[in-house]
Amino acid sequence: MDNLLRDRHTPAELAASGQVIEIAGKLGDLEQLTEIVRRDLETLNADKLPLDWRESPVAGQLSFGFVAAQDGLPTVIGQAGVTIPAVCQRCLGLVEIPIEVELRLVLGGDAEQAADAEQYEIWELDEDTLRPLDLLEEALIMAMPLAAMHVDDAVCKKPAAIAEEAEQATETTRPFAMLKSQMEQED
Ligand SMILES: [Zn+2]
Repeated sequence: MDNLLRDRHTPAELAASGQVIEIAGKLGDLEQLTEIVRRDLETLNADKLPLDWRESPVAGQLSFGFVAAQDGLPTVIGQAGVTIPAVCQRCLGLVEIPIEVELRLVLGGDAEQAADAEQYEIWELDEDTLRPLDLLEEALIMAMPLAAMHVDDAVCKKPAAIAEEAEQATETTRPFAMLKSQMEQED
């Protein structure tokens, strides 16, 4: 992945230089997301695993700038996407899940400022600087479905009884959310 994605800068620095970052990487570059996917795939038989799933392309663009009406607030606008493998919660087979995000964010700032910065969401910053890669990864993780499932019933092959059971189970569990919170606790 581009070094621009990995370097730390303050939002003001990124905005002032009008940084545009083209994202052309692979799923394996996103360590947290890769770990979530890896844990989810643990229940699959090894022979069903796509060998090169970490190579799945991550593509998109991030453009840094300022809210037009208010030069002080750094923003990022962009989009990104990646397709991840997952275990279908209905048939327990492999399913490919496309994740797409559209970003329109004010970096830092408070609620009052956000009200001025219409059509932007606030992205809270824990530190003075940020790594665009972290922002990208977190946005993709937040966009993951609560439960992965085949969209097409025809490829979701499982006897009806088992399928029903799985469906009931997914009403009460949220596999990705659970994996994510597990990882947070381990940190
Ligand atoms: Zn399925």
